[in-house]
Amino acid sequence: MLDHLRVEQVLHEFVAGHILRMLFLFHGDAMNTPNINLTQLTEQFGTDEKCRKALEQLRWKDGAKCPRCDSSATAIANRFQYDCDKCHYQFSVTAGTIFHDSHLSLWKWFMTTALLCEAKKGMSACQIQRTVGMSYKTAWYLCHRIRAAMIEIDKPKLNGQIEMDETYIGGKARGGKAQGITGRGSDKEIVVGIRQRNGELRLFHSKDVRAKTLAKYIRENVSQDVEVIITDDLPAYPRAIGDLPHETVNHTTKEYARYENGACISTNTVESAFSLLKRGIVGSWHKISAKHLAAYLDEMTFRFNRRKRSDLFIDTLRHMVTADPLTFERLTA
Ligand SMILES: [Zn+2]
Repeated sequence: MLDHLRVEQVLHEFVAGHILRMLFLFHGDAMNTPNINLTQLTEQFGTDEKCRKALEQLRWKDGAKCPRCDSSATAIANRFQYDCDKCHYQFSVTAGTIFHDSHLSLWKWFMTTALLCEAKKGMSACQIQRTVGMSYKTAWYLCHRIRAAMIEIDKPKLNGQIEMDETYIGGKARGGKAQGITGRGSDKEIVVGIRQRNGELRLFHSKDVRAKTLAKYIRENVSQDVEVIITDDLPAYPRAIGDLPHETVNHTTKEYARYENGACISTNTVESAFSLLKRGIVGSWHKISAKHLAAYLDEMTFRFNRRKRSDLFIDTLRHMVTADPLTFERLTA
């Protein structure tokens, strides 16, 4: 009887482990540099104490610092807290960060962060709920907090060959499919993408595709020394781009790429980022509200721009332990 139970338990663990491995393999991709696998995650961070130590190292390189007066602080025995040497404010490494006031174990925070880092197309709160083990509401709030930290703090201007395009996602097209309106002119949400070839991606939830709006994205993200900006034939682009070098690919006449002086004139690389985004929305997030779209776009670009780096997980934790708290009230307001 005992043996039977043991066999069942071993089998159960084996299957659970296998599903987790499948998840990692499925979401990992040949183009991703191995980041962190489950074995490393468990060995390095498998207890709350190990997680706490890691966060302390990421937040304070030269020992704990008081968040109120920046003085050095002394660890309080057996309490995971520090006491400021000067003002005697007592704090923990998670105080005033994205982890603030969370009752969830740090190990679950770390596991979820690792899963979100590994999932190229994103992962739904539902999947986190099942895989890590927590209520749906907790998983939803947790994912949003991790996402809130996945934001580029300094964004270098894009340069070289740049592709710019717009896409339409979510919602229902006005008039329905019968009228064939699925792109421009529908009431879907607009996403504007700018991608430097062999460089970084930026995605924006845009209110419209007017020249003034597009010009602002260009001003804020594209260098004045840009080699060329390639767009489709949306009429707003020439005015938005102004004096910068501009090439157009004529999508209305079904032209998708042509070669000029050895340069490929197409918007294919920004479009491949859009298709990843769309697969993410269909496959993992299912339905996202317009309200949170910008946060999802930030998450996707953060991960995308680090896809060849091996420190995505650690870099995300570094952002989390320096990001401001995000209360449930503010998130749902
Ligand atoms: Zn202090």
